[in-house]
Amino acid sequence: MTFELSAHHREILGRAREVGEKVRWRATEADAAAAVDPVMREALQESGLAALTVPAAHGGASEQVDSLAVTVVREAFGGVSAHLDSLFAMQGIGSYALAVGASERIHQEWLPRVVTLDAIAALCLTEPEVGSDLKAISTTLVEHDGELVLNGHKSFITNAGAAHFYTVLAKEDDGYSLVFVPADTPGVQVESGPDLIAPHIIGEVVFTDVRVPLDSRVGQPGQAFPMVLQTLATFRVSVAGSAVGLAQAALDEAVAHTTSREQFGSTLARLGPMPQMLGTCWMEIEQARLLTYAAATRAAADPLGALHWSSMAKVAATETAGRVADRCVQMMGRFGVVTGSTIERLYRNARPMRIYEGGNEVLLGQLAKTLTRPARG
Ligand SMILES: Cc1cc2nc3c(=O)[nH]c(=O)nc-3n(C[C@H](O)[C@H](O)[C@H](O)COP(=O)(O)OP(=O)(O)OC[C@H]3O[C@@H](n4cnc5c(N)ncnc54)[C@H](O)[C@@H]3O)c2cc1C
Repeated sequence: MTFELSAHHREILGRAREVGEKVRWRATEADAAAAVDPVMREALQESGLAALTVPAAHGGASEQVDSLAVTVVREAFGGVSAHLDSLFAMQGIGSYALAVGASERIHQEWLPRVVTLDAIAALCLTEPEVGSDLKAISTTLVEHDGELVLNGHKSFITNAGAAHFYTVLAKEDDGYSLVFVPADTPGVQVESGPDLIAPHIIGEVVFTDVRVPLDSRVGQPGQAFPMVLQTLATFRVSVAGSAVGLAQAALDEAVAHTTSREQFGSTLARLGPMPQMLGTCWMEIEQARLLTYAAATRAAADPLGALHWSSMAKVAATETAGRVADRCVQMMGRFGVVTGSTIERLYRNARPMRIYEGGNEVLLGQLAKTLTRPARG
């Protein structure tokens, strides 16, 4: 395994950085928005980068979604704007199961529009009473009079209200199925979600006797979890990329501040524990970046086989981002806690990363199970 990005991935990273630089001026506004920011969306559309989130057979960039390519884009976006990062990532997270298991009709009608961001995607797993323990969901899917009928309440759904379709996890008989639901289907109701410390397009989606054609079931009846797992296996590591980008941006802020501000006749960067704090941040970011690239390279080749690597990278990089952002705020003193400053926004944006796409404690528990299984590969 090589620890250097290939020329191909460096080119993708460079393109994503260009997009990030182009929209940096808009980041504060976009990251406070509860609806899709038109500047961010247009920049993403023009870049063509969302093609990386969909397989080539449906208008995307590569035969299989390349986890490393998605990860480096999120590294570039994560340090600039959580809104931009989420807009990009959700196109893949919300549509990947469709690419794997949806009908030809849905493939043709919807996936090319995901690539161009003319259709915004969303994935509905979480419910008011159910987070990590997805097998406890109560949303139901039944076949009735030649149609599928969906009833349930999904909670904390990214892109709720902005999405053009929802990929929904539901109980069907004794198993679990995924179903594709266009957002304008009668019976789909979006309610606004709570305000978060790091604002996000988020909401509750209620499905009341929602009727969709039989070919809206994604994959075979009762076979949702392998597709959910494939989605996570392909995209989880990209959260690590976003976290690395965020941590790097926080450190860049702290370096600029501590090398330009003087106290006690010296720059802050030379005072007391400051050098150790700066050095520790840098070391931890590079550690996280290396693990992230290594995990994403493995996930690109074999997403399911590398799931434990993706989980490790997600936990390591998001915990790093939390620690680094906190230290950077501290190094910047009162300027670190000013609402509307870049460091304050990065500090807030770092926090939810440890909770979504697999709570870090849940992932560590799964890693322990893998580690202690008798015949570990
Ligand atoms: C910004 C944001 C965006 C989101 N977007 C979406 C979305 O688009 N679609 C969607 O479906 N959901 C979404 N979610 C919900 C997210 O998936 C859940 O928050 C996540 O699954 C955790 O569930 P929970 O919050 O209910 O926590 P819980 O499951 O109640 O867990 C609470 C705590 O207990 C820990 N814990 C839980 N189980 C175990 C265990 N077995 N072992 C050890 N520790 C455990 C967790 O790690 C966590 O620290 C989003 C959440 C956020 C914050």
